[in-house]
Order: sequence, then C-alpha cells, then structure tokens
Amino acid sequence: MAKNFTALALATFLSLPLIGCITTPKAQMATTESFVIDSETYQSTGKSERIKTIVLHYTVSDNARSIKLLTRGKVSAHYLVMDKNDNKIYSLVPESERAWHAGDSGFAGRTILNDTSIGIEIVNAGIKPEYRNALNNGALDYHPYEHYVAFDELQIKKVAELVQDIAARYDIPPKNIIGHADIAPSRKIDPGAKFPWQRLYNEYGIGAWYDEFDKQFFMHPDAFAAATIPEIKQAFRDYGYQINDTDAWDKASRDVVYAFQLHFRPEQPTGNMDRETYAILQALNKKYAGRDDFY
Ligand SMILES: [Zn+2]
Repeated sequence: MAKNFTALALATFLSLPLIGCITTPKAQMATTESFVIDSETYQSTGKSERIKTIVLHYTVSDNARSIKLLTRGKVSAHYLVMDKNDNKIYSLVPESERAWHAGDSGFAGRTILNDTSIGIEIVNAGIKPEYRNALNNGALDYHPYEHYVAFDELQIKKVAELVQDIAARYDIPPKNIIGHADIAPSRKIDPGAKFPWQRLYNEYGIGAWYDEFDKQFFMHPDAFAAATIPEIKQAFRDYGYQINDTDAWDKASRDVVYAFQLHFRPEQPTGNMDRETYAILQALNKKYAGRDDFY
C-alpha cells in the first residue's frame, strides 16, 4: 500500500506542471498531495442505481426540426430515434448526465424525474394536422385514437431494443417504463394513443401490461358501481400516478384517467372513468403490487 501511495504521489507530483491541460474524468476523483481515495477497503451495501425510470416521448416535429430543438435549446433527451430508414439511434446526452426532457413530473413517489430517468424522443408528428385544433371549439375534451399519427415499424423495433438494453442495465421495474403523459398528465399526451405498449410487452417483454383473466374478473359490474371516487383515485396512486384527492372527476383528475387510457386502453381514450378502465387498473395493481425502493 505504502509503495503504491508513493508511486501515486510521485506520479501526481510529476504531472503538476500539466494541470490545466489534463482533464480528470468527472466520475474519477483526482488524487492530490494531501489525499488519496481508497475505494477498495470498505463498501456500502445500502445503494441502488440512480436511473429508475425510462420515459418515452414523441417530438411533434420532423427529423430536421427535432434535432434542432433537442440540440440547441433548453430541451434535450438522452436518445433520439428518427423516422429514417437506417439503423441509427442518436445519443444526445450521456446517460450519466441529466437530460431535460421530463419537466414538472411525478410517478411512483418520485418527482423531478429528470434526476432519475433516461429520456427517449421518437420523431412522430403526434396529432394529425387536420385535428390539431379539434379541442378548441369545446366539443371534444380529449383527442380520440384516430387523431394520432402512427409510428413507423422500424422506429418501434429500434425503440424496443434500446429500451430492452437500458432496462436490463439499470434493472428498471416494468411499471417504470412509461410515457411523458404518465408523469405529467395535465401538460403532456405523448407518446400518444398509437404508441404500441401492448406489443412492446408481448413481443419484447418490455414494460407493464395486465393479464386479461384478471381484467375480466374485475369487470364485474357491481364492483365498479360500489367503488367510490376516493377508492378509485387511491388505486391510481397505488399504481404510481399522481392524482388529486378531490371527491370529483375534475379536469386534473380526468387528465390522469386520459393518460392512463392512452397507455393501457389506447383505442378508447376518453378521459371518462368507466368500468373497463377501473378493471384494467385493478388488474395492473394485482400484478405489479408494491413499489421500488424509496431510499
Ligand atoms: Zn414529451
């Protein structure tokens, strides 16, 4: 040990004139003349990965505009999946740094999700141009399934394989692979109703999905009729959604219902609480009970 220390100190001393030209990698602490970091003698057991969640987005822009928005301004993502016919995925922010993709957000007891998530942007127009103003005249509160633009097949394959890799490396629980709408339901609707969460679950083993048998069990009409608003809202909270505790389906609460439907009943996203939505929520809670650590 003593010999190593001397050698290190000497090496540090010899490199002194070069300080200013050499950059120490951020993850690696410098050694000075007065201290050396010993990372071998003791190790803590109370620790976990900083990355807990993967958040998927769509860009509402084409390739050129998306790259401009995500590289020059104050929004960014770790990865960008364009709709080009090639095998590239662009890494815009290293996974060890925060990308600015989530904004004001919360899920599963965590807020400010930029701190603990990997953000993936997918180039997709979002709502079809002819429907962009569809909510303005007050006739519709939320965009139905057919207003959304479908994703390119190759994009889905690339996103799925990228998510598989990230989820495995950080050991991310299925529930924590989510969309921007899930974590910011009153501000965001991406990646929208046409993002195929169920296919990702079935074909790639990614994310959460309910078992049909459980859903049918919870579809019992009496169960929904007897459920109170606070009970249903608690079921949303149990799953991870942030929802207020008013005794009504006000706009903010319906935004959560809509975000949930975009994810788990995408062909009929209405924002209205109904029997099937509650059955799906209960089936999910049955399958994915509990949360990851809060430390
Ligand atoms: Zn987004």
